Amino acid sequence: MAEECTHDCESCKENCSQRDMHKKPHELSKIKKVIGIVSGKGGVGKSMTTAMLAVTAQRNGYKTAVMDADITGPSIPKMFGITDKAMGTDMGILPVMSKTGIEIMSMNVLLEDDTEPVIWRGPVIAGTVLQFWTDVIWNDVDFMFVDMPPGTGDVPLSIYQSVPLDGIVIVSTPQELVSMIVQKAAHMAQKMNIPILGIVENMSYVRCPDCGKQIEVFGKSRVGELADMFKIDAVARIPFDGALTTCADRGLIELYEGDYVDGLFHSLEKIIK
Ligand code: ADP
Repeated sequence: MAEECTHDCESCKENCSQRDMHKKPHELSKIKKVIGIVSGKGGVGKSMTTAMLAVTAQRNGYKTAVMDADITGPSIPKMFGITDKAMGTDMGILPVMSKTGIEIMSMNVLLEDDTEPVIWRGPVIAGTVLQFWTDVIWNDVDFMFVDMPPGTGDVPLSIYQSVPLDGIVIVSTPQELVSMIVQKAAHMAQKMNIPILGIVENMSYVRCPDCGKQIEVFGKSRVGELADMFKIDAVARIPFDGALTTCADRGLIELYEGDYVDGLFHSLEKIIK
């Protein structure tokens, strides 16, 4: 610690062990646990997993929120069928409520036209995510799930530094699961001292509609290998399921009945109990 420590880490250049770059949430926010959902690259089902974990948490009686930090590819509002825009007050921005009462903030609930692209450079994007944390009044939240931007670039890095994540869940598909790119994402979290709480193998198999057999169309499951590598107990396998796509596309993810992430969620529950 610097000899003349002012406890104001932001204005201090000292690289000491007490350094805490985490930003405080809005003074009216109440947030107990924050879990980031991470992937090495886009399109593997990170937002889908975020939505499914949030729905499961809400079904289990927890007050739940989703912070959609994927600013350039926000898909959370569509999955929840949200068309309302966020309202602002003198005090701060209010999240939008899903049909079952999940608090949601996303770039798409701020844009007038949600087909409008966000053509911003990294620091501006990172600043916006930070405002989702500091300027949004999260009413009363047991579990907040953060849909992180894919990869290991500067935006995920600044979220790791600024938002006090209690842990992350890594999402990938079978072909990619033990790839270098997923391991980069896992190592990044480890370097930032953020616990990896679980791994999701999405599109892990399809179930034959006639005999119910699991067919591993995208290759053999490799989730066990990655779990061993990073010593993680909590894993989930989500099949490729047309009903899931339909629910997500129609904004009805809260009606999807599959319980594929229930076991993983009960592991996450341990951090709050
Ligand atoms: P990411 O957030 O990693 O970019 P998404 O969660 O947006 O990926 O998923 C990409 C697309 O794949 C979406 O259209 C989504 O509905 C679909 N999808 C994701 N997981 C599944 C699944 N298990 N079964 C069927 N469709 C899926």
